[in-house]
Amino acid sequence: MPALFPALDTAGAAPALRFGERALDYAGLRAAASATAVHLSGARRVALWATPTLETAVGALAALLAGVPLVPLNPGSGARELDHLVTDSAPELVLAAPGIELPGPLAALPVVHPDLAPGGPLPDLPPEPGDEAPALIVYTSGTTGPPKGAVLPRRAVRATLDALADAWQWSADDVLVHGLPLFHVHGLVLGVLGPLRSGGSLRHLGRFSPEGARDALADGATMLFGVPTMYHRLAEALPADPALRDALGGARLLVSGSAALSRRDHEALTAATGQQVVERYGMTETLMITSVRPGGAPRPGSVGTPLNGVELRLVDDDGRTVEARDGETLGEIQVKGPNLFLHYLGRPDATEAAFDGDWFRTGDIATTDPDGAVRIVGRRSTDLIKSGGYRIGAGEIENVLLEHPAVADAAVTGEPDPDLGERVVAWIVPRDPAAPPGERELADHVAAQLTPYKRPRTVRLRESLPRNDMGKIMKKALKDA
Ligand code: ATP
Ligand code: MG
Repeated sequence: MPALFPALDTAGAAPALRFGERALDYAGLRAAASATAVHLSGARRVALWATPTLETAVGALAALLAGVPLVPLNPGSGARELDHLVTDSAPELVLAAPGIELPGPLAALPVVHPDLAPGGPLPDLPPEPGDEAPALIVYTSGTTGPPKGAVLPRRAVRATLDALADAWQWSADDVLVHGLPLFHVHGLVLGVLGPLRSGGSLRHLGRFSPEGARDALADGATMLFGVPTMYHRLAEALPADPALRDALGGARLLVSGSAALSRRDHEALTAATGQQVVERYGMTETLMITSVRPGGAPRPGSVGTPLNGVELRLVDDDGRTVEARDGETLGEIQVKGPNLFLHYLGRPDATEAAFDGDWFRTGDIATTDPDGAVRIVGRRSTDLIKSGGYRIGAGEIENVLLEHPAVADAAVTGEPDPDLGERVVAWIVPRDPAAPPGERELADHVAAQLTPYKRPRTVRLRESLPRNDMGKIMKKALKDA
């Protein structure tokens, strides 16, 4: 029996995958993935040209069945980025949907097209490899620098999916609405492998839209996974769309992750639908770390408590563990558990720097509430501003700026300042470019809501903020925007 996906053997005619009008049940998926796996067996590493298609999902499963490490690639990568990914990961084969002309560095490799409707009996496959064998090599989102390949063992995939199934009561009855790309952990591990491990199904929208999510939920889907930019679009669409309100209100579970959900959008969604959006926190290197448990009172800004098997500690600048659960004292999140990756591909230096013994240093700064729930302040590298002797988190200022009626989007960074050390800078996309909010007005707004030393000293107006394909603001690129 396929150890990671028992439903392949047992779920038969139950729906598994649907992309637009094309679908496979579990028996069909088993046949398609097994037939494709035959062409991968024995390869050292296989790339996946991860378009949002049924072929991509089948190809990913095929690699797991064949026991060949899979490297999902962003089909929207620019030439330079793709060169980096392909040189770095050195695949022997590439999986791709038919009819696609693969670009430069992949064009020379043998291509395997997933076979969606094979005839004949199921082929024999070699036994699946052990728990520590690399299953996936997933590149980080490249928010803070060039993406690094995290080598994830089968054990980590299983551990994280089982912990989420427990935290979210995720079952074979669930139908997931999916609108994310398939080359990161969120869209691939949670969004595709998650439903298959639980024996439920997924419906991929191809490209996310509030209308697509609404129609799928109205048509019986039970859960939605999204990034904050998707929930922002839902929140903006809600006032004019009562059917969307009903669809979201009727969902069993709405989950947000990959970046912080703003308090503005969190509260707007709860107010309109009666649902709380459940936030979870994870990384490519660690898979999922914490989640809010559904059913409690909404707590904007909280990413909840550690998942089963995950140990979490906060460590201050002097390397001491932070004991105070006061919702104020800051430390770096460090984690250990069965959910962790093995190492960065070809980067022993980066791997070494990322660990303190068994503990993985996330680079994220947080505080814990008395019940152990985690509040992320931001990344140490871009979101912690040292100004006038204070340590200021960018996120709370961003939350307050987003609540100003004239602000459509906002990011906060620190810049060198002769008096303060660093000064708070706000990057603002005005709702109405003809009537942008004034610098003084925004500073007063922040000072009144938070405290005067957190007010932005400089405001820079922009038409949009640079975001990557997961909707994360690329703070290092703000200066060039
Ligand atoms: P790179 O490592 O290449 O700079 P990245 O860190 O964005 O990119 P990912 O592994 O996709 O790559 O993202 C993990 C990071 O995303 C976490 O370290 C954290 O900063 C952020 N993150 C994930 N979930 C949440 C959340 N719920 N709230 C706040 N931040 C989150
Ligand atoms: Mg990272």
